[in-house]
Amino acid sequence: MNASTGSVFDETRFSADRLGSLGGATGSTDERLRVRTPITDEEIGTVASFQPDDVERAVERVRERQPAWEAMGIQTRAEIVDRFGDLVSNRRAQLLDLVQLETGKTRQHALEEVLDIVLTASYYGAAGPKLFGDERRRGAIPGASDAVVTYDPVGVVGVIAPWNYPLTLSMTDAIPALLAGNAVVCKPDERTPYTALAVASLLEEAGVPDGLVRVVTGDGSTVGPSLIDAVDYVAFTGGTETGRTVAERAGRNLIGCSLELGGKNPLLVLDDADVEVAARGAVKGAFTNAGQLCLAPERVYVHEDRYEAFLDAFVGETRALTLGCSFEYGPDVGSLIDGAHAERVGTSVDEARDSGASVLTGGRRRRDVGPFVYEPTIVTDVDADCPLASEETFGPVVSVSPVSSVDEAVDRANDSAYGLNASVWTGNVERGREIARQIDCGTVCINDPYTVGWAAVDAPMGGVGDSGLGRRHGPEGFDRFVESRTIATARYGPLEPPASLSNRTAARLLAVLTGVQRRIVRWRS
Ligand code: NAD
Repeated sequence: MNASTGSVFDETRFSADRLGSLGGATGSTDERLRVRTPITDEEIGTVASFQPDDVERAVERVRERQPAWEAMGIQTRAEIVDRFGDLVSNRRAQLLDLVQLETGKTRQHALEEVLDIVLTASYYGAAGPKLFGDERRRGAIPGASDAVVTYDPVGVVGVIAPWNYPLTLSMTDAIPALLAGNAVVCKPDERTPYTALAVASLLEEAGVPDGLVRVVTGDGSTVGPSLIDAVDYVAFTGGTETGRTVAERAGRNLIGCSLELGGKNPLLVLDDADVEVAARGAVKGAFTNAGQLCLAPERVYVHEDRYEAFLDAFVGETRALTLGCSFEYGPDVGSLIDGAHAERVGTSVDEARDSGASVLTGGRRRRDVGPFVYEPTIVTDVDADCPLASEETFGPVVSVSPVSSVDEAVDRANDSAYGLNASVWTGNVERGREIARQIDCGTVCINDPYTVGWAAVDAPMGGVGDSGLGRRHGPEGFDRFVESRTIATARYGPLEPPASLSNRTAARLLAVLTGVQRRIVRWRS
């Protein structure tokens, strides 16, 4: 799309009126949040700017609806979750338009969001009944007592989502939270409220009771803290510094939280890797969603024997990428989210260049393509003190460095405060897996930049260090949203020695019983 021709609405299936109906809710004030599209930088609409009282009321309302949802049972909830996945798939054309309109990403990158929700909903829809049910555990004295664990939903889950994957990240935690029987209040980023509003309306269409899920729009520093004060658990995805404030507030309220934060992800190319394949993988990883992907590699370490060949292939593939803002499948790389972010990305490349780094390709803002488009950029010889070397850029910028051994590659990969996602490229998968065990990240992908880990929805995903706390996906991603209760039964009265025994004899008896118990535990394990 050419930014200088007409309105962005000329090219999308969404009209301004249609967006207006999505964001029609009002808060207690007339204040509205203005939403712009990065495609042309024009305002596309306004949504309610919720105030703390509005958030509190929204949580109260969903809380009233939660017991009825819980009473519907896991099987029914699982069917509804599964149906939601089907609806998202069926309505994908409109959802893709909306995601693109709000983020400026390419159509294929928007499609990844839709596919993610379809996969997540079908996984939890199928797994739900197995994840949620009473469990018999070993009792204190086998035969004389038993223990059963029951699970309840935590109550109301707050989901705080960023702008980079507004469809995926407003729903990927909401799905297991709902499945567990919770009500959900979602707070999307200020820049991408419409996607969350649209996808939440599909939940009701799938069978989630009216009013069980609310989307609260508005300023993050107002709505976010109010939400954390009102809910029973918060699933946060966003930047590390915001994540710290979320954790502090959750801590003060003594509620649980999961924090999916930033990364400075390493990609290792070993001496036995196919450099052409690794280069294609690095392109996909580094420039998907114009690099605004928490899992995207931003640091590439290549064995010195393969360094030149890898760089040639990587630069060649990168130069072949096409840039564009279009609602059709076509361009490989789309826009950054807004002007402030485009400035930040440009500044971090300029600083690296000024301190001696070489920009092998890219390194320029492309206003001719879109107001916030930045070229896919590869840099080498980055000074270790440069922010680009250690801080998350969150744009289409990647540094490449040679290393002389696997040990050096692993040391440099681990030399980061973050620990979200890494990838290892090798001709020997077993070797890759061994090396993966040495990397301090929540996910390590072998011969793939991130998709193989992200799409394994049965396996947990999350970060260590500054990349966060807790895990989404899989049983771990579900367990966040339930509270356990242990019901322990003494079959023959209280577990205490008969009153007729002296204290000394009772103590001996307890010691003997404890010894027997230990032997039973060892024998069973
Ligand atoms: P951000 O932290 O600025 O905002 C995230 C959300 O928090 C938004 O909805 C925002 O309105 C809200 N918020 C702002 N102030 C708040 C406060 N005081 N209390 C509670 N909520 C508040 O992050 P961003 O810039 O929108 O997103 C980009 C970051 O998210 C990057 O660092 C990226 O790596 C990270 N991210 C991580 C994952 C993951 O799964 N680990 C996924 C996507 C993005």
